[in-house]
Amino acid sequence: MKPTPKTFHVKSFGCQMNVYDGERMGELMAAQGMTPTDDANAADLVVLNTCHIREKATEKVYSDIGRLRKHGKDPMIAVAGCVAQAEGAEIVSRAKVDVVVGPQAYHNLPRLVADAASGKAALDTDMPATAKFGALPARRKVSPSAFLTVQEGCDKFCTYCVVPYTRGAEISRPFDAIVDEAKALVDAGAREITLLGQNVNAWDDEAGNGLHGLIRALDRIEGLHRIRYTTSHPNDMREGLIRAHAEVEKLMPYLHLPVQAGSDRILKAMNRSHSRASYLALLERVRAARPDIALSGDFIVGFPGETEADFADTLSLIDEVRYAASFSFKYSPRPGTPAAEMTDGFVPEPVMDERLQRLQAAIARDQAAFNATTLGKTCNVLIERKGKLPGQMLGKSPWLQSVHLMTDAQIGDLIEVEIVRADPNSLAGVERVRAAA
Ligand code: SF4
Repeated sequence: MKPTPKTFHVKSFGCQMNVYDGERMGELMAAQGMTPTDDANAADLVVLNTCHIREKATEKVYSDIGRLRKHGKDPMIAVAGCVAQAEGAEIVSRAKVDVVVGPQAYHNLPRLVADAASGKAALDTDMPATAKFGALPARRKVSPSAFLTVQEGCDKFCTYCVVPYTRGAEISRPFDAIVDEAKALVDAGAREITLLGQNVNAWDDEAGNGLHGLIRALDRIEGLHRIRYTTSHPNDMREGLIRAHAEVEKLMPYLHLPVQAGSDRILKAMNRSHSRASYLALLERVRAARPDIALSGDFIVGFPGETEADFADTLSLIDEVRYAASFSFKYSPRPGTPAAEMTDGFVPEPVMDERLQRLQAAIARDQAAFNATTLGKTCNVLIERKGKLPGQMLGKSPWLQSVHLMTDAQIGDLIEVEIVRADPNSLAGVERVRAAA
């Protein structure tokens, strides 16, 4: 039994949705009168908002708990997120943590913390559709670029992925609740909103608005200047959404559309339910609608059974698409997924390492080439934070590139910038005309 906490620290791992969930848990605890602290070792309550996507995620949570016990002030520990969902009571018995709360139940965190403080078991890994959103406090203070979860869960069941098991079936939040939250975010200082979902472009409602209808509604919010969305599945990329890229000015020219592999044989083994050809045809339509769009992808190297010829197909797909940015990982099995049972065609670690290096070299080449296309252009930049040098500020271009420049503009300003240097990972700019607020 621990005393009722007065201070708290939330540590989020993994994807942007976890960042959003972490912020919302922080807001919940603050609404209970607790004070946030940046120092985990000084907090009475530490929430570890975990991710199950990366290798050895569970082990990392246990070592984090050990570190907190050693260096912290014997805090109440709450494990949240996908590892909490996957492990459940196992974490309580193995690590003696105080609270375990799944990603669909974190609106119950205050009650669970109170239960733990009174010595009761505090575990909730239920998956009630969208109940949690209605129970969260209003958004008050956010950064200029804010996240807004609109969809959760996944019905796609890619054979390597735990998300359908940890986040549950696909659900969409109601249209009005999202629009209200977007307005609240803008009132709280957001100039850009990124709509989040495991399959965000599967978002829909009974009226059949689809994600494009939602984006068009957000387009009408005064004070909101930029809209983004992530992560999308190729099979949910509807015509209306592609058209929105051509027609909605606030929708930024950036699309993250994971493909994972370029070989149809591997795509089938991954149960991706799209082919190389259908993916490429889709990108052609997207580029026809918005020629300057920056495309980004996800790749898994060394999936069971991947041959050198399969890998060559992935490299040739990259050559064909010329991504502006990409994320790539070596395959590692997730317990409980079908791919973890695939014992044939295991790709040795040194082969994976070598393939990953070649793949990342191709990605870096294309990213540098894309950045170079912006040299000399003038574009708007949303200022997000201070740089390392006095007077330097950092922001994002419409194509999600980091831009640094010397300016007296403030965080949240949207300014016109001429790009004067294009490096492989960032751009340097000079301010032009300040946009009216
Ligand atoms: S689409 Fe596939 S990779 Fe993406 S969340 Fe669903 S199962 Fe996982």
